[in-house]
Amino acid sequence: MTAQTPTTAALQSAKVAVLGYGSQGRAHALNLKDSGLDVVVGVRRNGPSWDKARADGLKVAEPADAVKDADLIAVLTPDMVQPALYTDAIAPNAKPGAALLFAHGFNVHFKQIAPRADIDVVLVAPKGPGALVRREYEKGHGVPCLYAIHQDASGKARDKVLAYAAGIGGARAMLIETNFGEETETDLFGEQAVLCGGATKLVLAGYETLVEAGYQPEIAYYEVLHELKLIVDLLHEGGLAKMHQFISETAQYGDLTRGPRVVDGDTKARMRKILDEIQDGRFAQEWVAEYQAGNGNYRALKNADLAHPIEAVGAGLRARMPWLNPTPALAAVPTS
Ligand code: NAD
Ligand code: MG
Ligand code: MG
Ligand code: MG
Ligand code: MG
Repeated sequence: MTAQTPTTAALQSAKVAVLGYGSQGRAHALNLKDSGLDVVVGVRRNGPSWDKARADGLKVAEPADAVKDADLIAVLTPDMVQPALYTDAIAPNAKPGAALLFAHGFNVHFKQIAPRADIDVVLVAPKGPGALVRREYEKGHGVPCLYAIHQDASGKARDKVLAYAAGIGGARAMLIETNFGEETETDLFGEQAVLCGGATKLVLAGYETLVEAGYQPEIAYYEVLHELKLIVDLLHEGGLAKMHQFISETAQYGDLTRGPRVVDGDTKARMRKILDEIQDGRFAQEWVAEYQAGNGNYRALKNADLAHPIEAVGAGLRARMPWLNPTPALAAVPTS
């Protein structure tokens, strides 16, 4: 944690270009502007984000134009798009001494982007989705952020990265210093082993176990998917202690005696192997190759996930629970 609360002072007379206007891009651009910074959003003229950013009251420009004057360039497009964006729009146009900022270290850490030696390279990764980063800022709060310095060409990289973190509201909450390797590897591990990969495959295995044993699919859905939120909310708010406080004694005893049989030493050994593949670059190499080959395997796997019977059962049940207000589910992955 930082000793004193950073301010936006180091960027007050700077021009900031935010490339990409998705989850993080929109939140960062609006928060920085409301913090009094000079912000331009760099997006493609014919893309959907152009009109959206303008309607939100922001200046917009093509990425290459946005970069030309910028003292700080925030790269907030999807990770796989960033290397070409760097080569085409950033490298030929960035001012010497400008700062290049990422919200995830993937491309720098795995050497998909080799930044020019005369620019600063930093990272600010909010620990929450863009919508939360914006909402908390509007309430006068902030979402905690990780920050890191990969390259300090100007000698002012630290001042700039802390000013950016202050500008998006993160400094109001908490800033934790890290490095690109730690941010990238822990982020990938979390989403693969626990949050996305681990949690969904645990749910599907539980659902299949119940349905194959003859129980009603609707009841299986409630027990292993719907109610997961109640438990996650308790963990999120108060850790293991709060969960134990709110679940029954029977549930606690079942948890403590059966949980370790589901997730055991073998599971942990496989997690370690997944971490090894992240650390030695095999995962990054595989994903970049898949993306460059047109995402055929990625699309097939995603379509298979979305074709799981739990999806149809869940859609029917959620339609009777309007308070959930779900965003429309994808029927299939777009092919373009
Ligand atoms: P996103 O998919 O929501 O938005 C990407 C935006 O980039 C699009 O809206 C569009 O404006 C632009 N874009 C897309 N393709 C482009 C192209 N070819 N050229 C130029 N612009 C293009 O992305 P995101 O989820 O906000 O992720 C941005 C970065 O933030 C990534 O590095 C990601 O790892 C990181 N990050 C995301 C989150 C999150 O909660 N989503 C959290 C922390 C860090
Ligand atoms: Mg993450
Ligand atoms: Mg991630
Ligand atoms: Mg129950
Ligand atoms: Mg129970």
